[in-house]
Amino acid sequence: MRPAPERTLRELAEFWEGIDRGVLRVPRCETCGAYRWPPRPRCVTCGGVAFTWTEVAAEGTLYSWTTVGRAFLPDFAEQVPYTVGIVELTHAKPIRMVGRVLGLPADRLEVGMRLVASFEDDGGGTLCHWVQAEGCGIRSTFATHPV
Ligand SMILES: [Zn+2]
Repeated sequence: MRPAPERTLRELAEFWEGIDRGVLRVPRCETCGAYRWPPRPRCVTCGGVAFTWTEVAAEGTLYSWTTVGRAFLPDFAEQVPYTVGIVELTHAKPIRMVGRVLGLPADRLEVGMRLVASFEDDGGGTLCHWVQAEGCGIRSTFATHPV
């Protein structure tokens, strides 16, 4: 059985509750409105200490990615190769989240391509993966592929 993400951290309880319901929730500063990820005790923009967990559109653009070709844990051996991406949330900038990118081989990925979240339970609890947005072409925002 593959290890599942740690879900007992109090600071992430509302995030995981949202994921289990198929929505993406992130903390938003009550003073300046900035989105923050991961949760922090103080807003890095204004120093505010009050945050509200806010549901945001589960869509973003691919910022970068890597393909895992060697399983570091035996429980992942049947899944390699798989791709892990950094996704910049479209409506909650500057948040970038890490998650599996499903449904496309790595050679078809491009920086800036539009992705949407796919909430899937593979037996260890619901996780937020990313898939290409339907009907969306690739929108490159950088001239070269990231290293
Ligand atoms: Zn703030």
